[in-house]
Order: sequence, then C-alpha cells, then structure tokens
Amino acid sequence: MNPTDFPKTLSPFSAQVLALRAQLTAFERLDPAAQAAARDVQLKDLVRHARRHSGYWQKKLSAYGSRARFDSLPVLSRADLQQHAHAMVCPPGTVLPHTDKTFVARTSGSTGVPVEVTKGSPVYEIVYQAHSLRSFDWHALDTARDLVAVRDAADGTYSRAWGEVLAEIGWTGQASVRNMVEHSPEDLWEWLRETTAPYLVTTAAMVTRLAHIALADPRGQRRRLDAILTFGEAVTPEHRRAATEAFGARIIDRYSSEEVGWIAFQCPRHDHHHALTASTHVEIVDDDNRAVAPGQEGRVLVTSMHSHAMPIIRYDIGDRAIAGARCDCGISLPVISQILGRQRSLIELPDGTSRLARLTGEHWRAIAPVSEYRVVQYRDGEIEAFVVAACPLTPAHTLAMQTMLKQQLHAGLTVTVTQVEHIEWESRWKRLDVARVDRLRSDPV
Ligand SMILES: [Zn+2]
Repeated sequence: MNPTDFPKTLSPFSAQVLALRAQLTAFERLDPAAQAAARDVQLKDLVRHARRHSGYWQKKLSAYGSRARFDSLPVLSRADLQQHAHAMVCPPGTVLPHTDKTFVARTSGSTGVPVEVTKGSPVYEIVYQAHSLRSFDWHALDTARDLVAVRDAADGTYSRAWGEVLAEIGWTGQASVRNMVEHSPEDLWEWLRETTAPYLVTTAAMVTRLAHIALADPRGQRRRLDAILTFGEAVTPEHRRAATEAFGARIIDRYSSEEVGWIAFQCPRHDHHHALTASTHVEIVDDDNRAVAPGQEGRVLVTSMHSHAMPIIRYDIGDRAIAGARCDCGISLPVISQILGRQRSLIELPDGTSRLARLTGEHWRAIAPVSEYRVVQYRDGEIEAFVVAACPLTPAHTLAMQTMLKQQLHAGLTVTVTQVEHIEWESRWKRLDVARVDRLRSDPV
C-alpha cells in the first residue's frame, strides 16, 4: 500500500479479496495431507449441494451412494455441459450465503457450440481476483509498473492494468492493449518496438510469432522485457526458447478456462505448474478416469469448488497433461509437470490408437522458411498440413515435409502438404496447431 495514502479505507470487495489472498498464501504452504483434507471437505459439500439442488446432478448421481468415493463419480463431458447447462443450475436461494446474484460465462466456442456456465457472484470474482494477486506475488511482478497486452480485447490504454483491487490500494500500472486478431503480427511488432513497459501479456503462439519477426528485423533493435505472461494455449519448450532469445524474458504461464476460472499457475522456480486446489480440484486421469502416477500423461478433469450456482464436477476440460511429483519451491500445491494441450490434438493412428503429435516450428524450419503451420486430421484418418512459408515450396520441400510428418506421427498415415497464404484457424485467437476435424478432405468447409 502506498504509505502516503494511510489510513486507507477499502471497498468490501477489495477487503474480501485481500483477506482471501492471505488465506491462499497460508494454504499453499500447508502440508499436502492438510491441503487434501480441506479439499475433501469442500468436495463433499459441493457434491451434497449438487445432489440436493441441481436437477441434472440429482439424476446423474442417483446410482451413486452418498459414501461413494469422489474419484468414482461420473465424468462431466463438454457435450453434457452444452446440452444440460440449464438443468444443472441450482435455484436462487440455494447457493452460498455470500452469493446474492449470478452471471453467465460463455466459452469462446472454438468447436462451434459455446458452453454456458452460471456462476455465483461475488464469490467467483473474489476467488478469481485473490488468485490473480497470488500469481503476481509468486513471480514478484511489480504492479506499479506498466504492461502491454496483445490479446482478445479492444485496442486502448487502460489505467488499472493489474485489476481494481490493486488500483484501489495504489498500484496503478497502466495497460496498453492491441487486439491480436485485428492486427497482423508484423504490425503488432512495430507497435511493441515503440513501447517501454516491462511486461507483455499474450498467448504462447503470439510470443513465438513476434519473437521470430523481432529476430529477423534488420534494424537489429531489440525489445527487452522482464516477463511475458501467457494464457490460452499450452506452452512448449520452443515457445520458452523463443521468448528468451528475442526478448530476454521468461514466460510465466497461467492456466485457466472460461468454465472454472484459474486452474494452475506456473511455479515461481520451475517451468511446471501448481494446481490451485484451494478453489479448483485438478485430476489427471487415464481412460478409466483413475488418477495417473507422477510422470504419466492423462486427461485433465476439473472440479470447481465454489460452483454452487451450477456445480462443475469432474469436468473433462479437453486438455491433456502430465502429472508431477512434489516441488522444492516451498509451495506444496500439486504439480502438473506439463500441460500438453488439447485432447483434440491427438492424432489417430492406423491401428486405432491415438497419440499426441509433438511438432514444433523447428521440424518445419529444418526444411523450409516456415512461419506458421496447422496439421488437420480428417474423419477418415487422412492428414493435411497447411503451411505458410516465405518462399514457394518446391516438390522436394513438400516431400521432405511429408517424410518428416510420417516420422513424427506414423509411417502408415496418408499425408498431404498444402502451402497457403494464411492459416484458417477455427477460433479467432486460440491456435490449435494439430487438430482432428469431423469432416473429409473433399467436404466443402
Ligand atoms: Zn514449485
């Protein structure tokens, strides 16, 4: 707090956020057994509430006794959420005592049908803001300083870069924002070069794109950043290398979703993430929906502890991740060793099994000056790679790319490479570089 501003009277909202931030700080350092015990009490309470007040959950859980283990309960799919959102909502008056109203959050609808989640207010906002503050604390970000953001928001300059609560207690960094869809990456780089803020907020793919443009800039002027905060996409070692090389900055990733809010923050010391189990229970599970061991890969299920307005229990968020072991940074929250990205990025192999395609820009640039790529698998298994390159691709390039893809994915796949002027992404800003689509190559788009 600014000492010249003393004594400061806070709004009730800010006071609650700061009080919760203090509780979260203590919770993060508890013994894992104590964290798990607190979590289990909350999970039990949420399930009991869902059975009592949500028509959808009443029916869905009717076959499960009240003593059923939490990790034996059925998984909630995205399709369930799309179809039954209204039946999931609990009637007014049954939600938490601090919740006096609700609001509806809609996902960006990258698969066509948006998901609508009803959330209790102000509980959701208090939890969300308190966690945001913890992410700044973890990474020692100076919230008196400015930031620049390339994101899914309108162009402009905003005076409360780090949120209302910090602004209220005197941390008044400014945010300059450019919309990431309306401007070309080249124009965004011209803008970024002229800015001086120490922090950048954007997606991992955009960092990498800007990094390549910056490194190729013949003017040679380098833009240094203190840190880059990413959201919206899985961060790979390639993204991290590009950020360090071009901007001398470390990527700090924060994993969230419209459906549940914050899920995990990158550790202050390592590149892995800590699950924010004070508010979101995260499970990484195998095909039988059982927890995988540390080091193993699985699907991410999330349970939103404060979702009393519309219970979100064991929701399959569509991501894959690797479970981690304990961390040495002092934070005892569970570790997600790597967030791998979307379940839809799994390529189906000719033998019917599937695997996550781990392609990086370097696989392509070893062959030709490729700036962007997107690999699509059609319903019949055929693969088409769309590639943007700085020169026309020769038949030799195309052949080398087909060979590379077969090596990386599977030798038995049918692979086509198509050079394009620009990539048609499904979502306006989320870039899924490998995706399965439910149509044939010959179908009209
Ligand atoms: Zn850690």
